[in-house]
Amino acid sequence: HVTPQADPAKGAAVKAADRAHVFHSWSAQELIDPLAVAGAEGAYFWDYEGNRYLDFTSGLVYTNIGYQHPKVVAAVQEQAGRMTTFAPAFAIDVRSEAARLIAERTPGDLDKIFFTNGGAEAVENAVRMARLHTGRPKIMSAYRSYHGATAAAINLTGDPRRWGSDNGSAGVVRFWAPFLYRSPFYAQTEAEECARALQHLEDTIAFENPNSIAAIVLETVPGTAGIMTPPPGYLAGVREICDRYGIVFVLDEVMAGFGRTGAWFAADHYDVVPDLLTFAKGVNSGYVPLGGVAISSAVAETFAKKPYPGGLTYSGHPLACAAAVATLQVMEEERIVEHAAHIGEHVLGPGLRELAERHPSVGEVRGLGVFWALDLVRDPETREPLVPYNATGPANAPMAAFAAACKKGGLWPFVNMNRTHAVPACTVSEAEVKEGLSVLDAALSVADEHMVA
Ligand code: PLP
Repeated sequence: HVTPQADPAKGAAVKAADRAHVFHSWSAQELIDPLAVAGAEGAYFWDYEGNRYLDFTSGLVYTNIGYQHPKVVAAVQEQAGRMTTFAPAFAIDVRSEAARLIAERTPGDLDKIFFTNGGAEAVENAVRMARLHTGRPKIMSAYRSYHGATAAAINLTGDPRRWGSDNGSAGVVRFWAPFLYRSPFYAQTEAEECARALQHLEDTIAFENPNSIAAIVLETVPGTAGIMTPPPGYLAGVREICDRYGIVFVLDEVMAGFGRTGAWFAADHYDVVPDLLTFAKGVNSGYVPLGGVAISSAVAETFAKKPYPGGLTYSGHPLACAAAVATLQVMEEERIVEHAAHIGEHVLGPGLRELAERHPSVGEVRGLGVFWALDLVRDPETREPLVPYNATGPANAPMAAFAAACKKGGLWPFVNMNRTHAVPACTVSEAEVKEGLSVLDAALSVADEHMVA
């Protein structure tokens, strides 16, 4: 490991310039205190004070191969020396190669790749493709979802972050997807939850007019909203409903794709092939911004003889594509997807379940691969969340105390409402996971103190 060199004076300067000029996402600008980060490698990053953190967030759940993989860094450097940039209308070796490698890994006949600079733009374009393909206006999406922060993507998003930019959500119909632990359908079993969720979706479609619905957009495994693995049969059921009504099925794999779940795509676990699949993040671990839509032959056919009215200046940027080619090669060579599956099945999953047995504040453990959530509760009987929905300030104190305990122990935690997600790099070692679990163990003791007496 690189030994972090403490340089508090530089840290203070970085922080001062940030506070003066950087306008941060999702934040009240004067109420935040961003950590000044000096460097990162593998599953770790460090600050200017010499503190090293095991990153249990993978940035924003995207550094699937860890930070600074030397082969990917070298590939980006090599590409920069050869051809830093070239416009999207041309055929470029590295762009063709990235598209080929992605298409070979996506399920079914998703063989054409439209490149974007990130996840939200992928969702925007998937929605546009679906509307043009079907000639229908409405898009359906689930509550408890996140699809990005641009116009259509934020309106499809089924969480409170939508509220600040909701324009009335024209053309968006939201529904409840299955989530047994906090079942919207009062179900007791997975089978019941699945059946009721599918019936609810069918009823919603019937009342909306099936012929008005262009697409159903779902995260294969909803990530930000709580890593809620769908019950067996649910996604196959949605596929069947889409086929019956001529609706385009969009799976958003921006977070779940490229190894996160211990498979190339989460859809692989559920044996389901969407018509459009959105990706970003893990495609090149965010070394250079890249996202895209993988397109089925049926949807691609719509744009075979008439133009697709959409595009981006940096679509398929050579540096981003070089990072993707190198990332996918490294993932094959180092068997990173298999490693993520192994870690999930034998180390991280069992370790988190063991913590849940000893810490009453853990209401449920969910996930697969390196994609896990702990649902923290005040009361395991009622499943009342450890903090109220969308809590801030003093109401959020128990989660803030939990997060502070993690950081004190050298683990950077992902915290969202009453949940913490264990989402380290897919390359995380068994020893690193064990180190993380022991920090979580101590931090959960802090959470336990905030439960009802
Ligand atoms: N879709 C999903 C499932 C995501 O998790 C995210 C980001 O977290 C997005 C879309 C948006 O991606 P981006 O932030 O790259 O625009």
